[in-house]
Amino acid sequence: METGRIIKIISNQYEVLNEQGEHLACIAMGKLRKHKAPVVGDVVKLQRFDAQIGIQKILPRKNELLRPAIANVDQAIIVMSCKDPDFSTVLVDRLIFQVCYAQIHPILCFTKMDLIEEDDEIHKKIMAYRDSGYDVYVSGKGYASDALIQILKGKISVLTGQSGAGKSSLLNRIDPTFHLQTQEISKALGRGKHTTRHCELHEIAGGWVADTPGFSSMDFTTMDIQTLAERIPDFAPYLHQCKFNDCIHVQEPNCAIREAVEKQEINGERYAHYLEVVQMIKQAKPKY
Ligand code: GDP
Ligand code: ZN
Repeated sequence: METGRIIKIISNQYEVLNEQGEHLACIAMGKLRKHKAPVVGDVVKLQRFDAQIGIQKILPRKNELLRPAIANVDQAIIVMSCKDPDFSTVLVDRLIFQVCYAQIHPILCFTKMDLIEEDDEIHKKIMAYRDSGYDVYVSGKGYASDALIQILKGKISVLTGQSGAGKSSLLNRIDPTFHLQTQEISKALGRGKHTTRHCELHEIAGGWVADTPGFSSMDFTTMDIQTLAERIPDFAPYLHQCKFNDCIHVQEPNCAIREAVEKQEINGERYAHYLEVVQMIKQAKPKY
């Protein structure tokens, strides 16, 4: 049976890219629609009929996002501008927490580097992320984008970050034909962007990028605190060294995470931002 990946959905029409590189217009078969709707990013089994191609089966997903609905995301590119809108480590860290909670690899991209002076404090803050082990990229007018081009290759990426942070500009810099491609595809399908259910992966620099930014809600209230702590990369080396198995690293004695913060092995600011989020989660939960 033929296999392919869904790269576009418009209402109940699916565009699937098969292993031969052909773009196929497909429909979801009845029994599939009832159980679980296919989403962009899904790897699917196809069945050919006389006049139609049906999506018969969805292969197991590595992960899935709800808004935008997309499966098998390899990485989320967290875009933060140095200026306009203001640089914020609170926001970067909250996005890191959300992305990691969804079990997606975070990549940090700091934009508008051309808007800050060489001695700006922001440089140090960006370096601190690199020191903590994060994948850090910078961009701006006059900055080369070669390194950025490489990160998209062969991956499904979602961009996230506040409006105006430079997400679209970044994609255009990586692939100047980007705008052109999207317009061409929507023209070929004879529909505009504002259809009821529309989600698309765009082929950029040898990879696939969702056309809708992810993680925009910033809602932490449904998170499990312990799971969050387990998925924060900074905490990973110390996790199983706390005295208590169910330590949430707030005020428990002999907490390896707090000790690492005191020794400055874990970034203190990120830990403070973790505590803020823990507070938000606790406040949202009913007390017994
Ligand atoms: P988005 O909302 O995240 O997609 O942000 P845009 O890509 O639309 O960018 C918002 C504004 O910031 C636009 O006016 C861009 O021209 C500007 N901008 C984006 N990247 C840079 C940059 O690297 N340097 C400077 N100076 N301006 C930028
Ligand atoms: Zn602990």
